[in-house]
Amino acid sequence: MLDALIIGGGPHGTHLAIALLARHGLRRGHLAVLDPHDAPLGQWWHCAENTGMTHLRSPVVHHLGLGPWALREHARAHGFDDKAHFLAPYDRPSVELFRHHCAWLEDHHRLAQVRIQGLAQRIQLDEDCVRVETTSGQLCAREVVLALGASASLYRPPWAGELLRGGATIHHLFEPGFQASQVSATERVAVVGGGISAAQVALKLAVRGCVVHLVRRHGPRVHTFDSDPGWVGPKHMRGFLADPDPDLRRRKITAARHRGSMPEELAEALDHAARAGAIHLVEGEVTRAHLLNGLGSPPPIGLQVGQDFLAVDRVLLATGFLRDRPGGALVDRLVEEYELPCATCGYPILSPNLRWHARLLATGALAELQLGPVARNLVGARRAAERSATGW
Ligand SMILES: Cc1cc2nc3c(=O)[nH]c(=O)nc-3n(C[C@H](O)[C@H](O)[C@H](O)COP(=O)(O)OP(=O)(O)OC[C@H]3O[C@@H](n4cnc5c(N)ncnc54)[C@H](O)[C@@H]3O)c2cc1C
Repeated sequence: MLDALIIGGGPHGTHLAIALLARHGLRRGHLAVLDPHDAPLGQWWHCAENTGMTHLRSPVVHHLGLGPWALREHARAHGFDDKAHFLAPYDRPSVELFRHHCAWLEDHHRLAQVRIQGLAQRIQLDEDCVRVETTSGQLCAREVVLALGASASLYRPPWAGELLRGGATIHHLFEPGFQASQVSATERVAVVGGGISAAQVALKLAVRGCVVHLVRRHGPRVHTFDSDPGWVGPKHMRGFLADPDPDLRRRKITAARHRGSMPEELAEALDHAARAGAIHLVEGEVTRAHLLNGLGSPPPIGLQVGQDFLAVDRVLLATGFLRDRPGGALVDRLVEEYELPCATCGYPILSPNLRWHARLLATGALAELQLGPVARNLVGARRAAERSATGW
């Protein structure tokens, strides 16, 4: 029997695995990370590559290694030039450097030895252990950590469903199997979304030569980070944790997260591209979306946005994630079978060390009501590893 099984090998699952091996002395063979992708952090890299992001949004101290300065030291030790690989303010690292560091961590901590490729399909909380039915057989562990992320809960506006059923070329930017690199330079593309990912992919496609319309409901919301840095430490978190009411915590999270925002340099790049005619910015709601049958194969798509009518070959949704509790049927069933406590918003009510049950912990998006607005971020993974460690 495993001591611990982490379900999900994204940033959260990976950082926790590193902390359990290196800080808490769990032995390989007693720990496993279950994830369906064929490479570590597969989901994260898929999303990052599709956006075309060159730098992370978070500062240098937010990474998957142990000490806060590990990424900075890694850059120095491996000859990464400061100017090219850190972006002011807050020394945000380049994707290239971050990838190099992740690969080094995987190697150094021999994470391949704890990886099991597969998908958890059912979790049974027994008295002596947790049994997990997976696509690779049954696993048994003393404790299980849900590090499922939110990638299965992509938000698509209601009008997108009709287009999809009609066979239109429409994808969510983070959808499994969709590669933004396949969009050809001759296409007319409507990118839908007002946040950082929409801006990044719009710029990337414009550079490729595509005709790009960026459709957003609001003007640029400029914020360096997706929540105030005070949420990383006690400044805001003390008050948040002092209040036991999960509904109030949810309201604080909603108010704190700068949804649909982007850092200044990206807003400027977008503005510059728009003034140069490389990107057409369209502000408003899509009020009608339909296939322009008879005008080619596959038929182009017509989008009505206020007074603007756009005819495009492809719609790319950069519309983020659903607000519902992530984890889908796997988690729904757990909640029902074991009557696990949930807030009105549906999210888990966890103990301060992230326990949902004597043998079950959660991290990432599922731990939002404990970790606050940064739960989904890289620093959330670091906080989760510190908090849950008190229970190992
Ligand atoms: C493009 C992009 C850029 C970002 N940039 C930053 C940044 O610069 N700084 C920052 O702090 N944050 C950033 N974030 C936010 C944060 O890093 C991500 O949200 C992060 O992916 C969350 O990690 P996670 O491990 O919770 O989820 P994921 O990365 O989604 O990983 C979860 C994993 O669990 C797997 N899984 C799900 N269900 C099961 C199951 N039933 N069985 C087995 N495995 C399962 C999934 O397939 C996935 O591989 C970014 C996010 C995106 C999308």
